[in-house]
Amino acid sequence: MKRILITGGAGFIGSHLCERLLNEGNEVICLDNYFTGSKQNIKHLLDNHNFELVRHDITSPYFVEVDEIYNLACPASPIHYQYNPIKTVKTSVMGAINVLGLAKRIKAKVLQASTSEVYGDPEVHPQPEGYWGNVNPIGLRSCYDEGKRCAETLFMDYHRQNNVKIKIVRIFNTYGPRMHPDDGRVVSNFIVQALQGKDITIYGNGKQTRSFQYIDDLVEALIRTMNTENDFIGPVNIGNPGEFTMLELAEKVIELTGTKSKIVFQPLPSDDPKQRCPDISLAKEKLGWEPKVELEEGLRKTIEYFRKVIL
Ligand code: NAD
Ligand code: UDP
Repeated sequence: MKRILITGGAGFIGSHLCERLLNEGNEVICLDNYFTGSKQNIKHLLDNHNFELVRHDITSPYFVEVDEIYNLACPASPIHYQYNPIKTVKTSVMGAINVLGLAKRIKAKVLQASTSEVYGDPEVHPQPEGYWGNVNPIGLRSCYDEGKRCAETLFMDYHRQNNVKIKIVRIFNTYGPRMHPDDGRVVSNFIVQALQGKDITIYGNGKQTRSFQYIDDLVEALIRTMNTENDFIGPVNIGNPGEFTMLELAEKVIELTGTKSKIVFQPLPSDDPKQRCPDISLAKEKLGWEPKVELEEGLRKTIEYFRKVIL
């Protein structure tokens, strides 16, 4: 039994990770400031005596004795991370300094939830971990992309300078139950619009691609990464290499929900990456992991969840 801190634990990914780690018999401390997460996501865990909930903002130091830290605190949807971009940078950078300082003091292992956004609008396809990326440092997405890049830098430097035990995971687009209906990311937007019979909003011409991973596959990979030997630190790509255009995604959601909603085209947000697809060779080799849930199966489960939540 381990004691584990999950920052951002009341968010979409964090709540699934809390649940899984509790089910495996660990003690879990969920830290969140509820900016984009909610108590609703972890309400079903509150009766578990191995679960503790802490309202705290990770831009301030936090002290606790734990064996492992998963650092997930950071808004992940473009509309939310651009709402207060200065705060987004602070959350990634000061948050990383605070969890790394804690890990150093208590000799805990710490995993950073990094992102495929570190590759920016990639010129290499699919993206291997060795690719340094094509990121605009001064655009509207930069608060997120550069904040996460700086967090990776801090993780590497605490490791090299202070021997902190680190893991860096670059997460590609992930979806599933407990995404917020107003989250603004594409999968939840399309499903909610379809279920409510509203227009399905494609930004740009819909030919941009993304690779969508179901939440259960990600949670499995996060835990496997944390459990690797100390000499494996990443960064490691975690995503589903199935690549789809936004038009294909919209058509799939229309088919699976049976909606009468129509597709409408809206302007493309600035710096929106044209394509994204993970090279997961490293994850296969080091974690013995690859995603199991196909897009259609994952969408069905997510549609079922949103039907209950919004109808
Ligand atoms: P989410 O918005 O649902 O969760 C983020 C959580 O962090 C929320 O509960 C939020 O309230 C909390 N938070 C934000 N700022 C905080 C702060 N200053 N102090 C404490 N808590 C704070 O998003 P998610 O999809 O669950 O993402 C979780 C992590 O995974 C993020 O770090 C994100 O960058 C990363 N990630 C997610 C995806 C994805 O597709 N979902 C892809 C790449 C990376
Ligand atoms: N997108 C879209 N309609 C929406 C929301 C998003 O067409 O209602 C597009 C968006 O422009 C991007 C892709 O879907 O090209 C994925 O967007 P998301 O915000 O989910 O994630 P990210 O851009 O960070 O990968």
